[in-house]
Amino acid sequence: KQKVQCPPRSAELGRSSWKLLHSMAAWYPETPTQDQQTNMTAFMRTLAEFYPCTWCAKDFQESIKEAPVKAESRTELCMWLCDQHNRVNKKLGKPVFDCNMKNLDERWKKSTNPKCQSDH
Ligand code: FAD
Repeated sequence: KQKVQCPPRSAELGRSSWKLLHSMAAWYPETPTQDQQTNMTAFMRTLAEFYPCTWCAKDFQESIKEAPVKAESRTELCMWLCDQHNRVNKKLGKPVFDCNMKNLDERWKKSTNPKCQSDH
């Protein structure tokens, strides 16, 4: 019997999107070129324009106007994204993440937990 595959709902889409976004930030260069900074800034703005959850996209666009993308370095980008995610967390009444590079790298780049395996 074939299993029905439903389109993702906003929560599932959100989890997958944050996974991609925080991972991209974690692996962003420490000292990006001018082109990389421009492209990352454009990427975030484009995501806010086309994010496939209409009310999320609207709020994300507003949020980016309030706190413009910071892509001058890996740390700047990770911290900016952490703050953006926390804005959404607060709006939804979810716990906020303690934004510092140690916590962010442990969660999104290289965990020191032996149960976690990295392949990139
Ligand atoms: P998620 O919020 O998806 O988080 C996944 C994991 O990220 C967590 O388990 C935690 O380990 C980690 N994490 C949590 N906070 C941070 C942080 N600040 N920095 C780094 N890592 C962190 N949903 C709505 O209902 N309304 C909206 O307006 C809305 N806007 C969104 C805008 C964007 C750009 C995105 C990507 C998603 C949005 N969502 C929105 C979805 C929402 O943020 C959640 O993804 C969804 O509710 C599922 O939540 P979750 O509890 O599974 O964890």
